[in-house]
Amino acid sequence: MEFIDSHVHLADSAFDADRDAVIERAIASGASALVCIGESLDAADRSAELAARFPGVCYHTAGVHPHDAAHFDAARHLDGIRREVSRGAVAIGECGLDYHYDHSPRDRQRSAFGAQLALARELARPVVVHTREAEDDTRAMVVEAGRAGVVGVLHCYTGSIDLAEAAVEAGWYVSFSGIVTFKRWTDDGLLRAIPENRLLVESDAPYLAPVPHRGTRNEPSWVGLTATRVAAAREVAASRIAGVTASNARRLFRLA
Ligand SMILES: [Zn+2]
Ligand SMILES: [Zn+2]
Repeated sequence: MEFIDSHVHLADSAFDADRDAVIERAIASGASALVCIGESLDAADRSAELAARFPGVCYHTAGVHPHDAAHFDAARHLDGIRREVSRGAVAIGECGLDYHYDHSPRDRQRSAFGAQLALARELARPVVVHTREAEDDTRAMVVEAGRAGVVGVLHCYTGSIDLAEAAVEAGWYVSFSGIVTFKRWTDDGLLRAIPENRLLVESDAPYLAPVPHRGTRNEPSWVGLTATRVAAAREVAASRIAGVTASNARRLFRLA
């Protein structure tokens, strides 16, 4: 089953001991590309090194996570993201809004997110968005970005059908992680609500390992389990979901 992991934190120290083996295992399991998320300039830099070492397989992104928005410094961070884009970053992010943890004040989260959306518009790059318990503000900012021609993905999505539909309407994509394999997941209506050409799947590794690996360090080779669960909800073959989500990721991130 060919698939693309649209969101993986391979620069995370959880992979320091065996990063290359994790990538080789993912390829052996059918991964044709891994989008390595730079949720900080430092992570982006390390992800860029992976992209250079695994050309055509690893791609990288660059942004500032909402958890760190309190320390967002427009001059320094936008400059750093620009530099990463000029060395091949395929998207800006992850950025967004997280009102569940509120690690940064909400107004700072909105201004860091807004600045990254504006940069995405300027550089004509897609955006990787993290959103949690921030539906109204996410909807407003995504719809406005969509009107300005910015596309992106709501990653590891667990929000409402309403917000997902507003994002799809704005031209955006919705990505599901291993959370959909958990026993407490009951929202199959959401898994069916996303048009097939806007669906993505992701590991979000090292977090959120899908069942039956739940509780262990996650890795991209298990994304097929998530694709299989999404496929079951939609009553189609798992290979179909793996295939369409791979072509969707190629289109959104303009992968080779
Ligand atoms: Zn996230
Ligand atoms: Zn992430």
